[in-house]
Amino acid sequence: MSVSGSPSQIVQSAVNGAGQDAPAADLSWQLDLYKDLHRRPELSGAERETAARITAELARFSDWEVTTGIGGYGITAVLRNGEGPTVLYRADFDGLPVTEATGVPYASTHSQLNADGQQVMTMHACGHDAHTVSALGALEILDTTRADWSGTVIILFQPAEEIAIGAHGMVTDGLCDLVPRPDVCLDQHVLPGPAGTVYCSPGPMTTSSTTIEITLFGRGAHASMPHRGVDPVVLTAAVVMKLQTIVSRELPPNEFGVVTVASIEAGKASNVIPDSAKIALSCRFYSERWRLKAVESIKRIVRAEAVAAGCEREPEFRFLGLLAATDNDDGVFAVVRPHFDEHFGADSQDMEPWTASEDFPVIPNAFGCPYLFWTVGITPRRQWARAEAAGRLDIDIPSNHNPGFLPDPASLPVTTESAAVAVLACLAHQWLPGELPDDEWATADWAGEPTQSAAAATD
Ligand SMILES: [Zn+2]
Ligand SMILES: [Zn+2]
Repeated sequence: MSVSGSPSQIVQSAVNGAGQDAPAADLSWQLDLYKDLHRRPELSGAERETAARITAELARFSDWEVTTGIGGYGITAVLRNGEGPTVLYRADFDGLPVTEATGVPYASTHSQLNADGQQVMTMHACGHDAHTVSALGALEILDTTRADWSGTVIILFQPAEEIAIGAHGMVTDGLCDLVPRPDVCLDQHVLPGPAGTVYCSPGPMTTSSTTIEITLFGRGAHASMPHRGVDPVVLTAAVVMKLQTIVSRELPPNEFGVVTVASIEAGKASNVIPDSAKIALSCRFYSERWRLKAVESIKRIVRAEAVAAGCEREPEFRFLGLLAATDNDDGVFAVVRPHFDEHFGADSQDMEPWTASEDFPVIPNAFGCPYLFWTVGITPRRQWARAEAAGRLDIDIPSNHNPGFLPDPASLPVTTESAAVAVLACLAHQWLPGELPDDEWATADWAGEPTQSAAAATD
């Protein structure tokens, strides 16, 4: 056994101090660091100062082997603490181009140039600042309690999650050669819910995300002479309506799927029928089988509508972004969940699948190891109870990416301790060598579609 005592007891005594001999982890720095990071969010791929701040914090832990600049601003910290399993815990740290409207004294007033060269306000509207501070807190707990466990821990800080290229970037920059191969990977995300509730279940928890850009080629003409052209605007309207039938008519009623046409571009003038039109789709599925079916249906419908309209040129499809679903491994769930129940009691609950997407699975899939993803509620409990009683949760509680999204700092100890408990639970387990996850996504070839490593915004 490579952990002495239950993970919950170890974390409990690290946080509270177990007596004169046992040193307590001093986590008093967490709130200030959280507020500092919250004040200065940086856009995906441009997290220079945030990465520098994380690196500076890691300097306090001299036994951890720190590597910076992985795939941009990615960072790993590794503690080799004797024989035992290797456990990787990941936290993301990028902000969003959102203007904060929380009104707290530590609200962001930061702005940054975006990829198009525009100065935009930035905000930690997805709680990645809380993820970062929690990972550093868990690292401190693991550092303080190292006499109670053995094995290897990797804490990974990932940039550019919101545009779904950060994990890919770290993997293609050689992550697998830079750190020991983990037996298991762990991750959490904050979300609306009573502050401090820990949600964890096996199976699909976030959707896969497929971003497709389609160009439809008509024939331009004078707006007064539609008979001389093939109008791509009318064609696009037909395509958009017909695509709605994929989820409503082709997917079994009990299967989840989303096919959203999120962008349409066609024409610049009222007196010109344009040559072409462009649409962009975001598709979300838990099941790879139904994702593949939907992609085939999209191609079939678009091509058929183009033929029906009399187009001379085939439509073009560009697959801009592909992310796997987050599909929690049953085995890792069985190892971790009892310890969440022990540590958090009634606040340890089942997780409802989330329709958002995550690039976290890119990391365990690169190592070929199983993983677990859980979420933690961050809404002040009184605010949640009031909205729930009024039947107004969807209206009154800001979701992730909303200008009013703000984690209750009271949830910081929970996100910190859930990370530490989960890592210790995995250190206490005997992972079979070569234990491969039962995960259709790990080997998915995305139907042989051409992919680009630079994915579009998919979170
Ligand atoms: Zn997000
Ligand atoms: Zn996020």
